Amino acid sequence: MEDLKEMYFSQTALKTYLDCPYKFRNRYIDGLYWKYESEGIRRGSEFHLDMKRHYLGLAPSGANKDMVSQAVNFLPIEDGKQYLPEYTIKYNDNTVKLTVRYDLLVIGDNIEIYDWKTQKSKLSASKLKTDMQTRLYLYTMAAAGKKIKQDIRPSDISITYFDPSHPSSPVRIDYDPSRFEKDGIYISGLISRILTDGEFAPTEDRKKCAYCEYNRLCNGRPVSIESINGLGTGLSWDDVEEISF
Ligand code: SF4
Repeated sequence: MEDLKEMYFSQTALKTYLDCPYKFRNRYIDGLYWKYESEGIRRGSEFHLDMKRHYLGLAPSGANKDMVSQAVNFLPIEDGKQYLPEYTIKYNDNTVKLTVRYDLLVIGDNIEIYDWKTQKSKLSASKLKTDMQTRLYLYTMAAAGKKIKQDIRPSDISITYFDPSHPSSPVRIDYDPSRFEKDGIYISGLISRILTDGEFAPTEDRKKCAYCEYNRLCNGRPVSIESINGLGTGLSWDDVEEISF
């Protein structure tokens, strides 16, 4: 458990704890990390790589032409702005350690965060507004973004989610000082809860077990990629992460 104090918390780690503390324990403390490649993850990974190539000025692979062209039309490169694809920030303020991998940062007068989604369902603005990813990504940028742009304020930061399968429905969320303060309290409170959790109890909502890789361990039920890829889990490239210590 001492190791946990050295851990940089990602959005997936925080979401995993909120989902089921025991799942968090299996994955991040006991190291039972099941790395697998579903069709959704493979497709999302290829698309993210092509988007990275595009904003680095390299030729895309050609494998995801339609998706890439939708995204590129949505966000053309503008003179005078800086484009930073797949940019990782590790933030440590001596109370919380956070790690965030941004799909794309666009630096101009403001800092615009872009996140590529490859989901079956249309993006939901109301869900995304309160989602852990949104809160962590905006908070970390507001807390640590001075290294990227010196005079940055929370109100200069936004995050936009774009899914090339639903090009007319991007979701943009702006930030402000009041949300920054609330997110800071929420995130540090959650991390302190994790660091002092002596139990890591299994979730009481056992419906979640049907989509969990530890279903055999906890319930003696078989685990299949199909069930994990099943309805409602929304697994995508974003769920693939490094465990960050
Ligand atoms: S199978 Fe259920 S109880 Fe076990 S780790 Fe997964 S979600 Fe938690």
